[in-house]
Amino acid sequence: MTDTTTPRGFADVFDTEVVGRWSAPGRVNLIGEHTDYNDGFVLPFAIDRRTTVTVGRRDDRLLRISSTFEEGVHEISLDALDPASMSGWSTYAFGIAWALSVAAQHSDSPAFAAAGGDLTTIDLSTARGLDLFVDSEVPVGAGLSSSAALECAVAVAFAELWSIDVNRSTLAAVGQLAENDAVGAPTGIMDQSASLLGQADSGVFLDCRSLDADVVDLGFAAAGLEVLVIDTNVEHAHATGGYVERRSSCEKGAAALGVTSLRDLDAGDLERAEETLDDETFRRVRHVITENQRVLDTVRTLRTEGPLAIGRLLDASHVSMRDDFEISVPELDLAVATAQATGALGARMTGGGFGGSAIALVPAEARAAVEAAVVAAFADAAYTAPTLFTVNAAEGARRDG
Ligand code: ADP
Ligand code: MG
Repeated sequence: MTDTTTPRGFADVFDTEVVGRWSAPGRVNLIGEHTDYNDGFVLPFAIDRRTTVTVGRRDDRLLRISSTFEEGVHEISLDALDPASMSGWSTYAFGIAWALSVAAQHSDSPAFAAAGGDLTTIDLSTARGLDLFVDSEVPVGAGLSSSAALECAVAVAFAELWSIDVNRSTLAAVGQLAENDAVGAPTGIMDQSASLLGQADSGVFLDCRSLDADVVDLGFAAAGLEVLVIDTNVEHAHATGGYVERRSSCEKGAAALGVTSLRDLDAGDLERAEETLDDETFRRVRHVITENQRVLDTVRTLRTEGPLAIGRLLDASHVSMRDDFEISVPELDLAVATAQATGALGARMTGGGFGGSAIALVPAEARAAVEAAVVAAFADAAYTAPTLFTVNAAEGARRDG
């Protein structure tokens, strides 16, 4: 975006003194799509694009927030943290404060229980208000989880400034609670886990049932590989439509097959699933079963053979999402097919689907050719031009200053 005005910053909006800056990354999901809410496996990595929140302390009980994303200041009182009175993008941040304030009531939920820690120690009754200014390098709605980047940057800032002593997994659960119950998007815990637990050059292998998180060396750079993100610029909307529908198909499939979640099934159950379920529900279930296995295979392959050998798993994941889960769009299919045909080792759509981005694992020397081919293919198809950039696996949420 070109803008001739001075960029807005904290001091243009607030007059409190800055006490620190915290940031959290977006994420790319390498593999494991729509498996998180099925108690399955995912392998995202935090990326080197971050959302930064600059914070000033207030003397009252107000939370005030502004962003380069939009003019204006949103405000809420710490004495009136109610999702019903939140609206717009600031809900992602205010929702974190609300989720912290009610976390103890959710201590039995799987995410909080697995994270451990004493949630009754979280006390916002005397916490002082804050001024928050948000600036982000994570494109919105591109499947890179700008929402989790915002939530997690805010969560680590709140935790430190309000002396909340909980671990990162608890903060991930807080982020999920905010996104589910304040924003109203029924997403799993993957995005927040990646943003909080990510490390340089590593993936976060997450078991969404036990919530065990294991860091897996990706070794892309050492193998001469780059991850190219192809943002189709087709906008997706998680809170509505297809995502919710896919989620209920999975619940329906699990119920019909007599299991708590699709995680309880494996390839040996496919025949029974096909006999029991209608065709559409069967294909939704098959995607989840095979995708879970592909995540496990990817982790094993990375640990034994290295990243050059994971391409076919990425390719198979895309086919499954396109044909069985039906969450791709023609732009994503074209991006993937073109990347595969021009030198990528593997490619797949990433994120919730219905738009957003694809990723391609490309040898560094082939990247320019892949990029040019994708741009040309989109032009030929008269699609909106895609946005292309590479990402590296980066460190999770942190204090920056
Ligand atoms: P994504 O895939 O990027 O997470 P979502 O729809 O889940 O897409 O979240 C995007 C929303 O998050 C935006 O519409 C906005 O409400 C909020 N958001 C993300 N980044 C920012 C930002 N820098 N400033 C303000 N709001 C943001
Ligand atoms: Mg999101």
